[in-house]
Amino acid sequence: MKSNVLVVEDNPELRRLLNEGLEEEGFEVDLARDGREALMLADSRKHDLLVIDIGLPDSDGRDVCQALKSNGVDAPVLFLTARDSGPDRVSGFSAGGDDYLTKPFVFAELVARLRVLARRSTQVDRTTAGDLRLDPVKHVLVCRDDQAELTPTEFRLTGAMIARSGEVIRRREMISAAWPPGAIVHDNTVDVYVRRLRKKLETLDSETRIHTVHGVGYRLE
Ligand code: CA
Repeated sequence: MKSNVLVVEDNPELRRLLNEGLEEEGFEVDLARDGREALMLADSRKHDLLVIDIGLPDSDGRDVCQALKSNGVDAPVLFLTARDSGPDRVSGFSAGGDDYLTKPFVFAELVARLRVLARRSTQVDRTTAGDLRLDPVKHVLVCRDDQAELTPTEFRLTGAMIARSGEVIRRREMISAAWPPGAIVHDNTVDVYVRRLRKKLETLDSETRIHTVHGVGYRLE
């Protein structure tokens, strides 16, 4: 089935390129020039993926994203950011973005990331395991009345483990779920993240554990 993408970008040239390029790659594309159009289009149809430019003429793309999320839109979001907008990247994630690309970007990179997001969003449909629940809007892990904040990487890692709770997940699979394509991630980096997540589970007093499967990976149960 075709994924449909809502692209929110005010630059006409880039909008045209994204439209043609993404259609060629087999996506269905809706185009919005600003935040107002984005909200209207998102209201009229459910999209699988969102690509949102942060610098829009009528609003900040992150505010548009938050407005969409509070309207119940749960599609993964990839932000397009201007160059050298360092700290902005982080606030893009806290505004509910799942990934970002800095302009100018290579089109193939955008497509690769959208495919990862699309795959992830169908996998991460399962957001609960045992006493744990992931809240994708607040980016937190919830256990009964308590919650723990997660960094974007921790969030994706936890999402991957929760979606496949009870199964063994290989380190390689964890890396492709949680880090951008092409990122160099060592096995011990994964282990460090798992240690941190275990601490968070402890803090939450959760009965769910991350079990080590020696030589292979981990199992959340
Ligand atoms: Ca712009």
